[in-house]
Amino acid sequence: MGNGTRDYDVTILGAGLVGLSLAASLARAGMRVAIVDRSNVNAAALSSSDEDWDARVYAVSPGSVAFLNSIGAWQRLREERLCAIESMEVRGDAGGELMFSAYELGERALAWIVENREIHAALVASVRDTPGIDVLAPRTPAGIAWSARAAELRFDGGDALSSRLIVGADGVRSWTREQGGMHHDPSPYSQTAVVANFASEQAHRGRAFQWFLHDGGVLAWLPLPGRRISMVWSAPEPLAHELLALDGSALAERVALAGTQALGALTTITAPLCFPLSLLRLPSVIAQRLALVGDAAHSVHPLAGQGVNLGFGDAAALSSILAGRGAIRDPGSSLLLHRYARRRLEPVFAMQGVTDGLVRLFGSRSPWIEVLRNRGMSLVGSLGPLKRLLAQPALR
Ligand SMILES: Cc1cc2nc3c(=O)[nH]c(=O)nc-3n(C[C@H](O)[C@H](O)[C@H](O)COP(=O)(O)OP(=O)(O)OC[C@H]3O[C@@H](n4cnc5c(N)ncnc54)[C@H](O)[C@@H]3O)c2cc1C
Repeated sequence: MGNGTRDYDVTILGAGLVGLSLAASLARAGMRVAIVDRSNVNAAALSSSDEDWDARVYAVSPGSVAFLNSIGAWQRLREERLCAIESMEVRGDAGGELMFSAYELGERALAWIVENREIHAALVASVRDTPGIDVLAPRTPAGIAWSARAAELRFDGGDALSSRLIVGADGVRSWTREQGGMHHDPSPYSQTAVVANFASEQAHRGRAFQWFLHDGGVLAWLPLPGRRISMVWSAPEPLAHELLALDGSALAERVALAGTQALGALTTITAPLCFPLSLLRLPSVIAQRLALVGDAAHSVHPLAGQGVNLGFGDAAALSSILAGRGAIRDPGSSLLLHRYARRRLEPVFAMQGVTDGLVRLFGSRSPWIEVLRNRGMSLVGSLGPLKRLLAQPALR
């Protein structure tokens, strides 16, 4: 733990998955980094038992796996806790269907399912093993004073640290974003994601499933090791409350029916958790000596499972730009920050466009739109090159 006033190249606020990955990547490029979180940061999760599964899981894309490998984090994950998505079946609300297969796309997996606490612990271990990083947690930041040469972060206790660049990685309701003068709130989707894990009667054989439902909700089943699945049900708020109030067996029955019993009967193995859903679009992700990454910079609907993948993309881009800064010695230089903002504009804009567009398309109650969206889905499914084009951003 660091203390007192110190100088850093980069200070990252927020030790979530994105902030941790950025810290490891910057320090490997020789930068002196501080990472600050208001909660404790520890790597205890790797001791979780075989029957104890985290209900919070991520679909990590092959592109993110390559980045996590480069910072020594992916290698730390236990193989028996990982599951490859080998194919995906997407169904519309009136007969539309679309199948993706890793084999057809020339990939080993469309994505890898990993539990939140496993990947968090792997990243913490990676940060702890990389020289040049001070972890300051739990610490509550109190204010930031910006100047032309540096930014000074002050803590509740009165001590402070100085750095050339501040990075906000503190989630969708980012305090750092506010401190940088960017006053933008996320727009709620009026849906809540209910997540829980289940044992399934039939083997999933590496298949993920997604159903666009009549009420505008989206139900996803993601394969876990063995005969287990993880559910993300993005449901209209009243339904989400109903699901959360069910006991384990009633919930399993409801989820199996909503998923057309595609894997036979289900048994609940974790208590359900819920996450409110929102869209955050910012006009800019940079300001003087400030860059935003991860959910602090953008949030997306989880239907494409891309939020943290976009965040890892931010971390990879920012660290490669700072590592390659050459004669520009100052990591907070506005030239570099503009380079970062430009590089992330297109992938983030495209992913938000696709996910938000799908939520609106399947949220419409017009019978014409219902026919069109389902026919469109089946048409895309029958056109191999178009399907490949649509899958590429998610794989990256
Ligand atoms: C139901 C659901 C399913 C999802 N599934 C997927 C998926 O399959 N694939 C995928 O790619 N994405 C998925 N996502 C998105 C993903 O969860 C987020 O994009 C990701 O967690 C964002 O990570 P982050 O590190 O940017 O922010 P966070 O995880 O929010 O971390 C922020 C960190 O900042 C700290 N912090 C906050 N405020 C302060 C402060 N003032 N000072 C200091 N520290 C602070 C917090 O303690 C925390 O550690 C899903 C999201 C939901 C809701």
